[in-house]
Amino acid sequence: MIQLTNIHKTYKVGSKQVDALKGVTLHVNKGEIFGVIGFSGAGKSTLLRTINLLEKPTSGSVVVNGQDMLKLSEKELRQARKKIGVIFQHFNLLSSYNVFDNVAEILRMNRVPKEQIRKKVEELLRLVGLEDKANAYPSQLSGGQKQRVGIARALAMDPEILLCDEATSALDPQTTESILDLLLDINQKFGLTIVLITHEMQVIKKICDRVAIMENGVIIEQGTVLDVFSNP
Ligand code: ADP
Ligand code: ADP
Repeated sequence: MIQLTNIHKTYKVGSKQVDALKGVTLHVNKGEIFGVIGFSGAGKSTLLRTINLLEKPTSGSVVVNGQDMLKLSEKELRQARKKIGVIFQHFNLLSSYNVFDNVAEILRMNRVPKEQIRKKVEELLRLVGLEDKANAYPSQLSGGQKQRVGIARALAMDPEILLCDEATSALDPQTTESILDLLLDINQKFGLTIVLITHEMQVIKKICDRVAIMENGVIIEQGTVLDVFSNP
């Protein structure tokens, strides 16, 4: 589903260089929940952003769904990105839009007919348990509810992959549990492939099938959660 091979990423900041990724190879199977854990600065979010080419690697190859992402035209890349939903630590909702419009926006941009948008948004809000919040604004929602809107929005274009960038890091433990339950539910219902990055072991242990541990731009260990975190 996702194959990253020997990815290097060097950021240039003025005359300084930061080697954020130093030869990362990673395979994510269709339908699995894959977690990347590591301390701040390890390179997790650079790695995640490489999957949809929000960050272009300095070298290496990125194959998603059989497509060599680095060989796509701008237009083909836009198409490919529609099948990759993203959710964020700070939700990134539009504060002047209500819940309905936050989810509907991407469908409008893709010229989905109005009646279809209404149906789709209602279905998504039911899925995430916010059917009674369609007219609320982000400022009126709790953190967990905001992330539910983020998830509904990420699923609007029926993606095959969901990327989660520290999606529960701004939430309390109980809300984190409920968001993880929702992600698990979506993974099972739709066979959606999920890649998440986190610094929280709880997240990995609760929902991930496999995990990679990142340190200083390299993966130091990867395997099933049981294999990597069992202490013989
Ligand atoms: P993590 O998500 O694990 O915290 P990041 O991928 O954000 O790690 O960062 C890895 C390294 O790359 C860090 O040293 C960080 O400072 C650097 N870095 C990340 N993004 C940029 C950027 N846009 N410009 C320069 N350096 C960056
Ligand atoms: P029109 O452009 O004809 O007024 P829209 O379908 O664009 O109608 O909807 C106007 C606003 O009403 C939307 O921006 C949205 O905030 C709200 N809305 C539309 N459908 C729903 C719905 N099913 N549930 C809640 N709010 C909705």
